[in-house]
Amino acid sequence: MIDTHCHLTYPPLFDQLDAVLARAAGAGVEQMITVGTSPQDAQRAVELAGRHKHLFATVGVHPLHADQSPDRQAVVDCVRALAGAGQVVALGEMGLDKHYAEPPLEMQRRVLDWQLELAGEFPDLPMIIHNRKATDELIERLSASGLAGERFVFHCFTGTPAEAEKILALGASIGFTGIVTFKNALEVAEAARLTPLDRLLCETDSPYLTPEPHRKVRPNEPCYVPYVARHIAGIRGLAEKELIAAADANARRIFRLP
Ligand SMILES: [Zn+2]
Repeated sequence: MIDTHCHLTYPPLFDQLDAVLARAAGAGVEQMITVGTSPQDAQRAVELAGRHKHLFATVGVHPLHADQSPDRQAVVDCVRALAGAGQVVALGEMGLDKHYAEPPLEMQRRVLDWQLELAGEFPDLPMIIHNRKATDELIERLSASGLAGERFVFHCFTGTPAEAEKILALGASIGFTGIVTFKNALEVAEAARLTPLDRLLCETDSPYLTPEPHRKVRPNEPCYVPYVARHIAGIRGLAEKELIAAADANARRIFRLP
């Protein structure tokens, strides 16, 4: 199985990377995409992917790190320097986060727009979108970018079924994390039920958000992504194998994985 979104460069995972990769292999998790969240972090992600053939990287600036990347040229230089590397399979994560007051939205919007402009230079790369309480504005901005809707992956979905419908209408795909297994996230589960099977991805977003029945385990790791798939399969009345086959086929198509 493929974990389409994890942060192996973050200390809780990086500090025990060999054990994390061994546990992933033991759980049948064969490929992982480690997602860059700042110029420095993207550099580390690309280096990591260069050392392990099962790992792939992405290059982007997370909206909550927008204040650390106030300089447009630095972001442009980073993306141009790294995005062409063979193990880079997407741009992002990028997006908007209205859950926290900082960094200011104006700053988040600027950093997102720089990255959307650059995406035109890398037509083969999809874009991983971080969305917290910003679905309508993101859909507006992504539509206005003129980039094809199919290139967007809204990762770690936390919204309502109606928001999922809007994202799907854009042409984008939706990534589900352990949140879909949480008892208090019935709307997320309903969104996972209604998302067409060819538009759905599974991910851990580790080191965060360990799925049930291991929710209390910290840190989360790629080895837990099968629990996300199992839960969505249950909601949809599918065999776990079928759900995994569909989600992995989507991941291979969207991220052009080998
Ligand atoms: Zn992430």
